[in-house]
Order: sequence, then C-alpha cells, then structure tokens
Amino acid sequence: MDILEIINKKRLGKILNEEEIKYIVEGYTNEKIPDYQMSSLLMAIVLKGMTEHEIITLTKYMLESGERLNLNHLEHVVDKHSTGGVGDKTTLIIAPIVASCGCKVAKMSGKGLGHTGGTIDKLESIPKFHVKLKEKDFLNQVEKIGLSIVSQTTNLVPADKKIYALRDVTGTVESNALIASSIMSKKIASGSKNLVIDVKIGNGALIKTKKSGRELAHLMIKIGAAYGIKVVCLLTNMDVPLGKNIGNSLEVQEAISILKNQSTGPLRDLCIELSSYMVSLGLNIPYEDAKEKVIENLENGKAFKKFKEFVRSQGGNLIFLPKSRYTYEIKSQNSGYLNKIDARQLGILSMHLGAGREKIEDKLDYGAGIVLNKSVGEYVKKEEILMTLHTSKKINIENINNYEKAFKIEKKKEPLTSLIYEVIS
Ligand code: URA
Repeated sequence: MDILEIINKKRLGKILNEEEIKYIVEGYTNEKIPDYQMSSLLMAIVLKGMTEHEIITLTKYMLESGERLNLNHLEHVVDKHSTGGVGDKTTLIIAPIVASCGCKVAKMSGKGLGHTGGTIDKLESIPKFHVKLKEKDFLNQVEKIGLSIVSQTTNLVPADKKIYALRDVTGTVESNALIASSIMSKKIASGSKNLVIDVKIGNGALIKTKKSGRELAHLMIKIGAAYGIKVVCLLTNMDVPLGKNIGNSLEVQEAISILKNQSTGPLRDLCIELSSYMVSLGLNIPYEDAKEKVIENLENGKAFKKFKEFVRSQGGNLIFLPKSRYTYEIKSQNSGYLNKIDARQLGILSMHLGAGREKIEDKLDYGAGIVLNKSVGEYVKKEEILMTLHTSKKINIENINNYEKAFKIEKKKEPLTSLIYEVIS
C-alpha cells in the first residue's frame, strides 16, 4: 500500500476502500506514517469529505486501535457527550441527576484545549478529587452509587488521541467526517448502549451552522446504529456562554447552585432536557415520565445528595474550592439592552486569565475565569458591572476593558434566540 497514492486519491475526491482506511489508521498509530503525510491526508478529507461508508469504516479501525470497556453486566447504563462550548458544565449537573433517577453513568471525559473547557479540569479543581481510578474501582463505584467520572485512559482509542492532537495543530478539526468518527469511536469504546449528544452550534462552538450540526447528528446516529447504540442528539445554541460562570472552580460552584435548586435559567433548562432524554433511554420510559423524575429529584435534593456522594467517593473535598488572587470588574460604557454576549471571545479571555490551555502542557489556575453579572435580554445601565474577572495574574485593566466589546448593548431589544434548536434521534 502506498500512502502517497491514498493522499492523491482523496485529493481528487475519490472514495477510499476498507484496506486503505485500515492502512492509514494502523500506519499512523504505529508511527509508520509520518505527521506530514497524515496532515496532508487529513486536509484532503476536510476539503473533499467522506461517504457514510468511509466514515463508518474509519470509526471501526479507530475503535480497533485500542481496548473497549465492557459494561454488559450493568443495567440502565447511559452516557452523554458535548461537542464542547464555553461555560459548559452540564456533565457535573446531569450525571448526578441521572444517577439519582436510577441510571448508571460510567463516564470518561477529556481535558480542555483552547477556548473551551474540559470536564476533567473542572473536577480536578476540587481539592483531592481523583480523576484516575483503576478500572476495577471505577466499575465498582458505578455499581455501588450509579456514577463515576474519570479521565480517558490512553488504551481507549489511541488512534484518536494521536490523530486529534495532529488535527488540533494543522487546521483539520472542522470536518464532520473526522468529528463523528473521533467522538463515536471513543463513545463506542466506553461501552454504553445509550447515548445523548449535545451538538453545540454557534460562534463559541466547533460547529457553526444548524445545517452542519444536523449532518453531524445524522452521521453519529448512523454510526451508533451500526454498533447497536441508541443515540439522541440535541442541537443547542452556543453563541452565548452557557450559564454565568466560565472557569473550572467557578463552574463547579455554579453546578452546585443548580443542584441545590438555588438558580434557574437556560443552564438549568438545558440540563433538565439532556437529563430527561438520558433517563428516558437508560430506563426505557417515555420522555415525559423521565422529565417528571428529573425535576422531582432536582427539587427534592436527591440529585445534590448524589453529587456529594460522587465527589466523596473520588476523594474530593468541596469545602475549600480554589480562588484566584485578584478580581477585576468590567463595566458597561453604554446603557441599553444586552442583545448578545460573544461566547468565543469570553472563552479566549478566560483561557488567558489562566482557566484554559493554549498548549496541551500549560498549567491551569483552577480559580481563574469569568463571572457574568448580566444576562442576554437584560437592560444594562452605564457603569453597571458586566462581568468580574478572576485571575492570579496582574493584568492591565486598560487592555482588558476592550473586552467590553464582547457585549452587544443596543437601544432596541432583540428577540431571544432559543436554547434548543432541534432534537434528532
Ligand atoms: N470532540 C472530539 O472528541 N473529537 C472531535 O473531533 C471534535 C470534538
């Protein structure tokens, strides 16, 4: 097999056969194909696309590059995934809700890179919380309390680990063929037969249009079906950050306030929807019945109790969540209606404050991030605080004031866009 021939074939928009796809995945994982040739092929895939059959085959060989977790001994198992957004702390809220309703959540998550955060970083901001458990302990915990969240092990889909790292630095992340095979290979390897995926759409997300989100959702549902996995996708808005807090320990605090039933709004609404679809799949009951259970367990404190049990089981201590050394307030220079908050710009700002990584080896400041003091749709007066920045870095407030531009404040109020665009199953 000749890698150059395969690259040229894809460059001309031709369909790769099973042997060629197998050769690429195995060759790159085993370091027989160098980065420069793999980058070239990935770019050809981004530009020319892949057929459904090619994507399912690519997923198959990525999956075969590593081990698979067997959860067949457990009942009511359900998993979730988000394609990534700014302020997306939904896993911290949803997993205990769903477990409190009788489902089993055995979740492997990743670290964040760039302007979006990762669940593992948020959990690691909790002092003494262990994100690395032995497989036996992970499964025992799921069996005992219905829930465990750990960092992805390297023996699960090593091909994706290598390919994703290369895509990240070669401008080849944004391809539905590559995104679908990357997400689904990891989810199939994680062992759940029920999966809810939050496909985030907008300027703070990887996927920019509803059309592209819809195509990605259909692809992931097809791949799931080929492995006997039921997949439900929710297409949701990521033009605006999700909730009020961005940054690891700040997001843990916001998750707790939702679980304690102390705050309402779009974040809670989205968590209720995602949880309801998960409970419906996991317990095999109608969506309406699942939603009733979910709201009941949020309101009666069972979901929060499950969260505390989960944190305790993994060694975490919620009493002393980290705080950054300094806070800076950003005030409005105008008055009017807050029509938009730019998720991407705030995600990047939060990363610079210390909450995220530009490079994989960067160290995090777990207390760093942003607290939004105003929500979209509110009226803002001149000099009112728009957001508070938390960081351990000394920063020049004049430079930071530029970020006031992330808030679109106008005389006329724009209608609010919906949070959930579509549910596809
Ligand atoms: N998340 C993944 O796991 N893979 C992608 O390709 C994109 C988002």
